[in-house]
Formats: sequence, structure tokens, C-alpha cells
Amino acid sequence: MQQLIDGYARFRSNVFPQHSKLFERLAKGQEPQALFICCSDSRVVPEMVMQCDPGVLFPSRSVGNLVPPPTETSSGVAATIEYAVRVLKVPDVIVCGHSDCGAMKGILENEKLELLPAVRSYLEHAGPSSKWLTRLLKGATSMSFEQKLQLLTEANVIAQVQNLRVHPAVDEALKKNSVRVHGWVYDIGSGGIEQFDPAQGCFRPLLESQAGAAVSTSTEQERKIA
Ligand SMILES: [Zn+2]
Repeated sequence: MQQLIDGYARFRSNVFPQHSKLFERLAKGQEPQALFICCSDSRVVPEMVMQCDPGVLFPSRSVGNLVPPPTETSSGVAATIEYAVRVLKVPDVIVCGHSDCGAMKGILENEKLELLPAVRSYLEHAGPSSKWLTRLLKGATSMSFEQKLQLLTEANVIAQVQNLRVHPAVDEALKKNSVRVHGWVYDIGSGGIEQFDPAQGCFRPLLESQAGAAVSTSTEQERKIA
């Protein structure tokens, strides 16, 4: 805990004064560029990876970056999606899975969830695609656990993107072409992000799929409040 208090002290004495103009602007409102749906995992820090200031990403974090189907209106994720798309009008929604995800491991090793009824219940939202894939993978003896985990992580992102697209707010925005939906997987060990390419039916490096677009490496983009 002391580490957190010390960090807050540094924030108050150094970081906040250096960025006072930013916080002055943020105090009046927000206009985030994307709803970022990712896992609660402590090693996944979207603001650091995307190098963005407060106010840029509207995060929704839950175990396994799951998006419950729209029939479950009481979920916090559904409320976050609705608010981000209808009120904040974010132009992009990203579902971002990650390597070494405890939730995905839990699905593969179901017996480890016995003491975690809330997690197990929530993981039901991993959806039919993931359940189908999980059953398929359990019989795939030639695949290593790591290979199965990666495939399940990717399948889960695709399943959650499908759930996301049928949420009423997202469905409306998609029909008006006012929102784009993306499925990503972040690799903690390498820092790499792969994006699902629906046309090719595979995940491809995010920067490769941006080929042709200028990738800025300016100091403006590299800055980070830390
Ligand atoms: Zn995770």
C-alpha cells in the first residue's frame, strides 16, 4: 500500500502541476476517442501501450474482456457500452484480449474455477463460439496448452466482438457508419498487438494492418504521464 501512497504523492507534487492545463480541460468534460474493452489483468495497461493521456480511452474492464449479450441488460459492461456509444459517441470500440489470461486459462482448466463461482458464472459469457472451441481443443492432444490458450484467447475476442455488434446502441451506430468495431489481442511479453482481419479470417499485426497509413513516432505521441 505504501508504494501506492508514495506514487500519489509524486503525482500531486510533480505530475499534476506539469499537466495542469490538461487536467483543467478534463475537469470540464470528456471526448474519448475509443471505448476500450479489456481484461482486468494488472499487466494490461491500455493507456501506457497506446501512449495516451487521460480522457482519450473510455475503459471497460472485466475478467476475460467479456461482453455479455444484450439480453443481460443489468451488466455493467452493457451500461458502459450504451453510455460510450450513445452519449459520448466514441468513433471506435476495441475488444482487446491478452496473452496469459487467467480467465481463458480458467475456461481451459475448468476444475480450477471450483472456488470461484462468480468468475465461473461470468465466464459463461465467453459465448457459444468459445465453448465450442474449448470442447474441440480438449480433444486436440497434439496441441500444447499454450497453443490452445492462444487460440481460445483469439476465439474469445471474436465471440465478444459478435456480442458487441448486436448491442442495440452499437447496432444502431454501425448502421449509421458512426462507429467501428475492432478485435485485438495484446501480447504481454513482446508488447505486440494483433488485430482480427475479418476479410482474411485471421489475426495480423496491428501496425502491419495499418500499412500505408503514416505511423507517427513524434514525441507528442510518445509522451506519457507517469
Ligand atoms: Zn485476462
